[in-house]
Amino acid sequence: MDLVDFRAHKLILSFASPLFRDMFSVGKSSGHMPGQNDGRSAADRVVPMTEETADVVEKLLLLCYPVEPPSWESASQIHPVLAAAIKYQLETISTTLRKELMSPRFLQSEPLRIFAIACHLKLSDEARVAAVHTLRQPMIFEGAIKELQFVSSLSVYRLFEFREASRKAVTVLAVDSDTGSVDLVSKDTTWIWFTCVGTFAGTQCPWSPRFRRKVTPWWFTYLGSASSALSQKPSGSSVTSDSTLLAALNEASACNKCSSEAYSDLARFSKLLAAAVDKKVEEISNTYDFCATW
Ligand SMILES: [Zn+2]
Repeated sequence: MDLVDFRAHKLILSFASPLFRDMFSVGKSSGHMPGQNDGRSAADRVVPMTEETADVVEKLLLLCYPVEPPSWESASQIHPVLAAAIKYQLETISTTLRKELMSPRFLQSEPLRIFAIACHLKLSDEARVAAVHTLRQPMIFEGAIKELQFVSSLSVYRLFEFREASRKAVTVLAVDSDTGSVDLVSKDTTWIWFTCVGTFAGTQCPWSPRFRRKVTPWWFTYLGSASSALSQKPSGSSVTSDSTLLAALNEASACNKCSSEAYSDLARFSKLLAAAVDKKVEEISNTYDFCATW
């Protein structure tokens, strides 16, 4: 694309890609005859990479050679290099770049961008993982990202559908009912919300239909916060966050006994609930192929 010539060793490129290996064994010569004074010989082969920028080709070549690999500042930077690696069948390099793309620093900060890149390159597994990570953020519209231009509206529709299906399935886990996941705690009667149930701040503790026993009122406050956090962000991380725990812990601090144990018990329970939420989301995500055509 940028009319830049790169000179590389055929042997190295042949190891990196079966496509290059075939090009070099049967490919045409560059058309430059011996005696032409441009430094090329008949043994040279020209691989035209007309759609890639010089920067992309340079990074690909760096990855072929046993030298310090390029460092990646953003997922957007990886995108064209990975696309070229897939196109030229640079398999080991594709695997390396897919791992870079899916590294936590990119996945956590811009899951929608990773989703778009994965859909563009037809990487179904990566798209699914990225889709799950989009649930850790609220669905807000803060300006489009350029990679969305490569994604079909079908894939984007599926992402919305997946979010809604996950939201419905996980908000009911944090309710005091027979369908909720709160039965995670029913077998263990030592939780502080079961043991400190005389009166709480001068009022009688409420009755839980699920546990068929009294529980401290702040336990219901936690469930309410968890449920509403899940409806914004249907992901396990929603129920363990400080902001979700805060209101219940504030209420618990009104009782001396509760206040000393509420944090550790609630933190422990919220992790169990988060695992149940993430398991549910995982199950739902496995029913989706975000990259598939109709
Ligand atoms: Zn108490």
